[in-house]
Amino acid sequence: MGYPDLCHVNQSQTSFSAHCFAGLAKPMGLVEGPGGLGQGGAAATLGEDSRESEGRYEDYGYNAQLSDRISLDRNIPDYRPKKCKQLTYSDDLPQISVVFIFVNEALSVILRSVHSVVNHTPAHLLKEIILVDDNSDSVELKFNLDHYVNKRYPGLVKIVRNSKREGLIRARIHGWNAATAPVVGFFDAHVEFNTGWAEPILTRVKEDHTRIILPAIDNIKYNTFEVQQYANAAHGYNWGLWCMYIIPPQDWLDKGDETAPIRTPAMIGCSFVVDREYFGEIGLLDPGMEVYGGENIELGMRVWQCGGSMEVLPCARVAHIERTKKPYNNDIDYYAKRNALRAAEVWMDEFKSHVYMAWNIPMNNPGVDFGDVSERVALRKKMNCKNFRWYLEHVYPEMRIYNNTITYGEVRNSKASGYCLDQGSEEDDRAILYPCHGMSSQVSVFSFFSNGPIISRDTGRCLEVEMSKDANFGLRLVVQRCSGQKWVIRNWIKHPRH
Ligand code: UDP
Ligand code: MN
Repeated sequence: MGYPDLCHVNQSQTSFSAHCFAGLAKPMGLVEGPGGLGQGGAAATLGEDSRESEGRYEDYGYNAQLSDRISLDRNIPDYRPKKCKQLTYSDDLPQISVVFIFVNEALSVILRSVHSVVNHTPAHLLKEIILVDDNSDSVELKFNLDHYVNKRYPGLVKIVRNSKREGLIRARIHGWNAATAPVVGFFDAHVEFNTGWAEPILTRVKEDHTRIILPAIDNIKYNTFEVQQYANAAHGYNWGLWCMYIIPPQDWLDKGDETAPIRTPAMIGCSFVVDREYFGEIGLLDPGMEVYGGENIELGMRVWQCGGSMEVLPCARVAHIERTKKPYNNDIDYYAKRNALRAAEVWMDEFKSHVYMAWNIPMNNPGVDFGDVSERVALRKKMNCKNFRWYLEHVYPEMRIYNNTITYGEVRNSKASGYCLDQGSEEDDRAILYPCHGMSSQVSVFSFFSNGPIISRDTGRCLEVEMSKDANFGLRLVVQRCSGQKWVIRNWIKHPRH
């Protein structure tokens, strides 16, 4: 099956092109050109007559049906800080290859990302667009996508197809392999670019090729496609290595210049730009990471520890759909955990214990196969990178360090070894005994030494276990005169400094 070949695209016949291109989008049920629903980034809804099916949310984590009705060329509000508009840039900036990775995204959403980057990037700076299809299932994303971009943007778009599902980390690496411009930008395939996004970024990379630059992120609402401005932020993370927005560093706030780059310890990950060769030299992303998560934090740690830097540029803005669910995998947490352990093992030295603690897993025999990290360890050695303590002090001083933790684990009694100290019901807020299960309510931080009594400092009495017919499991926790019972902490994590 083919589409009516309404016109042969001739770049010099611009007056014909709008007509020709409308002919390209329409048969696929899509809309091009100015105006229409969602124009100016306003919230949109489908009319009453149209059936809004929940199923599309399930498939995509956003309202794909609505997206189909919004023009691929819609404008969005210019959310740059005012002063950005007065800045001028050199004529001699490096070109960029823009990589979009996707698996089973809505065609209209991918194409809007493409249109948006073409519409908002000076043509002489945009060398190529690379679409990496991470083995999508949908037929629409094969024939229709190819057909459309080859006709609409002849010679500009390369499509890379993964023959098996690689996950977002290796998908980006495949995109990098295909890129030929001196600078490469990596983006999720559900973004819209703002006016003047590229120039400030290319300027910062040209000045210093060891800078990884993150556009400031705005939000595209998953249900209405409204574009909302986000506050200036750096990108941090917690000890589980889940990323989050954090307040910019104090010296940035003190300076009072909203156009200045914001130092950031890591990145959200949906949008970053880097010198192509430098990215190769420092080891791209960790190809041993699977599916989703952790790579964004790992790159932050690595670039800083190995002599480069990472920053958010408020004058360069990209809006991104925060989707309601990840349609490609039901166990994102597992992969985020697994990938976090890889980052911890390679980059975090003694602080890796914090990651195990955050995920509530023992350091010995964690029960998670995070693969072989030896090549990444060798990379760190080869580049002679700084340690994690240096990084925490200089780049992420806001991170809370749990210095006083001596040991972390579950507490068992010598008389009832299958039972662990646990939290009681919320109402009476008391400790109880419960069969050991290793989940968070039973593992906690203790500052007494293993294999001894638990004695109250005030009364000299001991926390012990007593048989009792009416108690749950026939055992009751009591505070009584010490009879010699011992408690054992099954160590999950022991801090090396103690
Ligand atoms: N993606 C991919 N392969 C995968 C998983 C995700 O190519 O196995 C793509 C996905 O289509 C998206 C990007 O990776 O363009 C990031 O995923 P997502 O948007 O779900 O992450 P989020 O932005 O919600 O953290
Ligand atoms: Mn995304």
